[in-house]
Amino acid sequence: MTSAQTRQVTDAEVKRVHSSAILIDTHNDITSRTVDGYDIGEAKHDGHTNLTALKEGGVGAQFFAVYVSAEYVQGNHSANRTLQMIDTVRHDIIALYPNDFVLATTADDIERIHREGKIAALMGIEGGHAIEDSLRLLRDYYALGIRYMTLTHVNTNDWADSSGDIGDSKVAHHNGLTDFGKQVVREMNRLGMMVDISHVADKTFWDALSVSTAPMIASHSSCRALCNVPRNMTDEMIVALAKKGGVVQVNFNCGFLSEKSAAAGKLVKPSTLPGVRGEDADIAEYKKRVPPATLEDVVAHIDHIVKIAGVGAAGIGSDFDGVSCTPTGLEDVSKFPNLTRALLQKGYSAEDIRKIYGGNTLRVMRAVEAEARKEQAAR
Ligand SMILES: [Zn+2]
Repeated sequence: MTSAQTRQVTDAEVKRVHSSAILIDTHNDITSRTVDGYDIGEAKHDGHTNLTALKEGGVGAQFFAVYVSAEYVQGNHSANRTLQMIDTVRHDIIALYPNDFVLATTADDIERIHREGKIAALMGIEGGHAIEDSLRLLRDYYALGIRYMTLTHVNTNDWADSSGDIGDSKVAHHNGLTDFGKQVVREMNRLGMMVDISHVADKTFWDALSVSTAPMIASHSSCRALCNVPRNMTDEMIVALAKKGGVVQVNFNCGFLSEKSAAAGKLVKPSTLPGVRGEDADIAEYKKRVPPATLEDVVAHIDHIVKIAGVGAAGIGSDFDGVSCTPTGLEDVSKFPNLTRALLQKGYSAEDIRKIYGGNTLRVMRAVEAEARKEQAAR
């Protein structure tokens, strides 16, 4: 048995490097609980996220998911739900704890708020059906502070195919993006909203990549080469995304990190939101039957992206409070310093870690902002 040589790392070094980075997590679903009255300020530790734990984990900026479940498509309630989810970020998180969270909409905002010692709060829509096929709603959401949108959730919508139902022959697919879907991408470019390809079908990814004039992100996806599930990205996709300046934000969901977890998870009724009414039994069953992934798995996914696409292509998109199983050693937002230690042990420099944790995301945001200025000036 061979064991890779790992570097000795002191607590002081972990602390120094960790606090020298702006840790930007591009996906957290605590909003699905705050919208139902959960108080993020109470350190209850019954999920993955609360204010105390965010501080303990040294989180500098948090993209809160404005998650719109596919169920809202029926009866056209998607826009209503989107606005309620935006309100929970603005009202139940930022306005309730103004000494701790400040709304950020630009890369400069993140840096300024971080210097002030507060947590930058950002918003990204999860599920392109949120716009109800209207560019006007897309513009309204931008005005309210939304800075990325996943083109789909697990459901194919009227203009983009999802990885979640691409194998379902009962669903009418489009072979990627429709003409309107391409218009959505172009309007996101013009507004300065990041195009997020997490959850989309592979063909949708390739269509979006060829249409987008700005770098794109996968806000919470991992590597298919290490865990072969449709939600993860192939090496070819990762390299192509990186070539256009984009970033893959590694997802901590056990079932996206480890094939063992993914295989066991398939046997359990999927439940995605811990604490959501009526799902507690499923969560318990899931925990009993699914072996968790590990901190080392997360490092392996980051390392794989870095090896094939460079250190500029990797980021963090935990999916905390959006998943039923988190890795041993990275159980919740307070545990991020463990990842810093593991990356240092693996031989990553402080500079590399600063890029992976936030520098790469800031670079994409600035490129997206610059493209929007350019396109708006050209009209
Ligand atoms: Zn998701």
